[in-house]
Amino acid sequence: MSEKLNLKPCPFCGAEAELLGVSAWYSVRCPSPITKCPIQPRMGMQRRPWETDDQLRAFLAEQWNTRADSGRDDARPDTCKAAEAAKEQA
Ligand SMILES: [Zn+2]
Repeated sequence: MSEKLNLKPCPFCGAEAELLGVSAWYSVRCPSPITKCPIQPRMGMQRRPWETDDQLRAFLAEQWNTRADSGRDDARPDTCKAAEAAKEQA
């Protein structure tokens, strides 16, 4: 039906992330119980009318896979860069 999405593991416990879809609501989450992963990150979105389910799944996977330490400077919000620049000048 849809291609397998490549999800990175949970950044806090390393568990394999899972992508769930319930009607038009999709989410990516760490499936570990709280005893194994105290953070249990989770993100979800309602599918927008102009999107297909596959588009939303791909978008969520891309967002989930974005890591602050991935070395991609363009992945970080401008506010972070501005804060660091201000620190360097101080
Ligand atoms: Zn986890």
